[in-house]
Amino acid sequence: MDKRRKLSDIQYAEIATLYLEKLSSIEICELYQKRGVDISVRQIQRIIKGQGINRSIGDAFRLAIQRGRVKFTQRERKNLTRRTKLNPSLRYKILQRDNFRCVLCGADSSVDTLEVDHVNNQPDDHRPINLRTLCHLCNFGRPSPNRKGSFISI
Ligand SMILES: [Zn+2]
Repeated sequence: MDKRRKLSDIQYAEIATLYLEKLSSIEICELYQKRGVDISVRQIQRIIKGQGINRSIGDAFRLAIQRGRVKFTQRERKNLTRRTKLNPSLRYKILQRDNFRCVLCGADSSVDTLEVDHVNNQPDDHRPINLRTLCHLCNFGRPSPNRKGSFISI
């Protein structure tokens, strides 16, 4: 007979107690190994599962973080500046005001896609004075304060 099966009822109860006291099955295993009891982590997990007290993955993960078994660093969030969308009718008005042509190079929509640009680079400043029609190429090549320079060398 496998000596691993010779765990007493007391040990079963103890494993459950240790587990409920927030030890991991690995820690319980180490404890038993130190006492000279030959038991595997898997066997402990089976005992815990058999008693229906196993933790959810989320709980296990939270506990592991709390107890420093797992290092958890929250992923750095990108600095999202939520821009309010230019409403389509205002966009159309700007295109109309600029005669559906790029104000820099004069291209119309048959040449390139027309875009409404924020002159001061403030994406939330939708005052008509701050808006202008640019073709995609002119808008794309325009240096922004966040960029070191233009993508397009002329
Ligand atoms: Zn242009």
